[in-house]
Amino acid sequence: MHVRTFVFRSVGFLCLPRAKKMRRSTFLKSGSLLAVAQITGMSTLKALEAIGDALPKTERMPVMFVGHGNPMNAIEDNFYHRKWQELGKQLPKPKAILSISAHWLTPQTRVTAMDRPKTIHDFGGFPKKLFDQEYPAPGTPAFAAMTKELVNHTTIQSDLSWGLDHGTWSVLLPMYPGADIPVYQLSIVYEQPPSYHYEIGKQLNALRDKGVLIMGSGNIVHNLARVDWGGTGAVYDWAQEFDSKVKNWIDEGDHASVLNYQKIMGSLADMAHPSNDHFLPLFYILGLQQKGEQVRYFNDRFDMGSISMRSLLIG
Ligand code: ZN
Repeated sequence: MHVRTFVFRSVGFLCLPRAKKMRRSTFLKSGSLLAVAQITGMSTLKALEAIGDALPKTERMPVMFVGHGNPMNAIEDNFYHRKWQELGKQLPKPKAILSISAHWLTPQTRVTAMDRPKTIHDFGGFPKKLFDQEYPAPGTPAFAAMTKELVNHTTIQSDLSWGLDHGTWSVLLPMYPGADIPVYQLSIVYEQPPSYHYEIGKQLNALRDKGVLIMGSGNIVHNLARVDWGGTGAVYDWAQEFDSKVKNWIDEGDHASVLNYQKIMGSLADMAHPSNDHFLPLFYILGLQQKGEQVRYFNDRFDMGSISMRSLLIG
């Protein structure tokens, strides 16, 4: 009992976040061009076309799924942190970054549309140094508006109350320490089936040609109740098995099996994801994979025995 209490207190940082209630005041049109459209009577479609023209086609951006794991990776000089630093230097510089983080769950799909997203320290029990971190990247109402327009699988709501949670900034701080690239987030509706997330991912594809780096942030295996605090480096067999199966399906382009993982893997799936909030961002990223696009893996290691840090770069 004692141990259990300790474990849960210690892993509070990664608990399933509570879905934020939507406020009426946040149902605001995003993008100054849309505001202009309302004032001048310009049609919304015309305004969106204008946004599209203002954001010219660029080099096609890759998409990535990042295993973020422990928030301390944001500031610790470790293997994962160094890889994120490297990636920031290697990838083409994005015009904007769209993050789909395991830590933003809402009743409906939402997109942040504020000019200045705040840094959210959504964890507990960590050193003050981590709480002192800020990631003051600007937001991008224009790209938020374009994202809403692209997706018709659901109606995306504009959000002015969230910001950047640690699923986003803990990775971007090492990747782009200058915080000079606009960042916005898309929320996850936890109750929706895998296909919902996959279909939205597909519809985000055009953003890649506009210079947007789309990043899903979660973990391919994520069981906090089973983390090994002893630092032995041992990995659970079930964790290894789940991770390998998912990797094989991705290698084979068998997205249907990834989406059906619960049915196919049964209790193994439940062990890997007692709640699947950290797995869902992967579905968006797989939905974005185009025919013939290669998958490259990085950080394909386990942390604390039950957290797979395996990450993907596609395209
Ligand atoms: Zn997390």
